[in-house]
Amino acid sequence: MELQRLRPPSFAGNVLSLMKHHVSKWENHNQFDLRPKLLGRRLFWKQPMLERRTFFRSNGGLIYCSYSSEKDQNLQLSDARVIYSVAPAMGHNKESHPESHLRVPAIVSALEKMELTSKFRGSEIIELQNFKPASVDDIASVHARAYVSGLEKAMDRASQQGIIFIEGSGPTYATATTFQESLFAAGAGIALIDSVVAASKIHPDPPMGFALIRPPGHHAIPKGPMGFCVFGNVAIAARYAQRVHGLKRVFIIDFDVHHGNGTNDAFYDDPDIFFLSTHQDGSYPGTGKFDEVGHGDGEGTTLNLPLPGGSGDITMRTVFDEVIVPCAQRFKPDIILVSAGYDAHVLDPLASLQFTTGTYYMLAANIKQLAEDLCGGRCVFFLEGGYNLNSLSYSVADSFRAFLGEPSKALEFDNPDILYEEPSAKVKQAIQRIKHIHSL
Ligand SMILES: [Zn+2]
Repeated sequence: MELQRLRPPSFAGNVLSLMKHHVSKWENHNQFDLRPKLLGRRLFWKQPMLERRTFFRSNGGLIYCSYSSEKDQNLQLSDARVIYSVAPAMGHNKESHPESHLRVPAIVSALEKMELTSKFRGSEIIELQNFKPASVDDIASVHARAYVSGLEKAMDRASQQGIIFIEGSGPTYATATTFQESLFAAGAGIALIDSVVAASKIHPDPPMGFALIRPPGHHAIPKGPMGFCVFGNVAIAARYAQRVHGLKRVFIIDFDVHHGNGTNDAFYDDPDIFFLSTHQDGSYPGTGKFDEVGHGDGEGTTLNLPLPGGSGDITMRTVFDEVIVPCAQRFKPDIILVSAGYDAHVLDPLASLQFTTGTYYMLAANIKQLAEDLCGGRCVFFLEGGYNLNSLSYSVADSFRAFLGEPSKALEFDNPDILYEEPSAKVKQAIQRIKHIHSL
């Protein structure tokens, strides 16, 4: 398979200087905010800007966000069905670590091969480029400032030593570029929130957002890094959507095979952010039991559904219909954010659920529909896990097809012969139990 032979882009070694250039480019611009105006089905953004951040310039299917002082600049974003951002963190890498710098390039390469980029689709699929890194204040809406400044200071040590471990005895590493690249990952998600929210003000069917970013975020706890995760990208975006766009109620779906303990902890007592996680029972980090339902004012707005090993497509379809939909309907969100982990795939090396590429297509299509039904179509996916580069790439590509409303091509990739029977009795029990606990 060609994807397995992917190599990181040649700029890997020069990522620091590139990033310095990138950052200084940002610093040289003035600030703008979004002012969407409707012209047919096209979006035009005009300054002046009030608080932050983005001015868009369109060039075919690429959208460049940049600051500019010229008042007459605006954007055309017509007929987009998918808008995505890419933050591959090429300098954040450790030899033979599963959370590698090959992951995002593998996805981007697959999207190109499968003709799911603007090159082939024009403005139907748009890549958001030159977005700004998240600010320390953005990060501090979820994480302790002491952690953020401590990580920044640790970059000197990482420069000297190459790789350092930043999670006590845990598996989370850092390199000299980790701090800055993690800010870009969070910023890539925030920029998509801006775009999707602005588009939703124009028409009821805005593009779906997908942040192709790393390092992942859902294990990172408010006080520090954890489980390959540095900053809680989805949690930071949730706070941003509330603060900047006034979207009070945020519904977060986390279908990564592991429990999103960091997101769980960040909003455990918050009644306005619903966190729903499905994960493999007993997998890392061991949290996310049925009875972890939130605390204080937030009691009932955290739902954890541990699934028995071997659970797959049939299970997840049932979970979607019987748990996710009624939960979201009752909560009435203003936006849906998704911690999209592709490590529940049957081919993934880190766990033992049996999702298929078709399962991920189903989830993407159904979540898009849910967002249209409940919150004006506002929805952004954030890449979390997924460590088999082939199943990761194909599944993200099929998620794009679901966003486009095109048929799945999962059958070209999935091999039913490797699947075994799902533990249906245990699954039924788990679903009954969670429905009982949450009165669904
Ligand atoms: Zn995971």
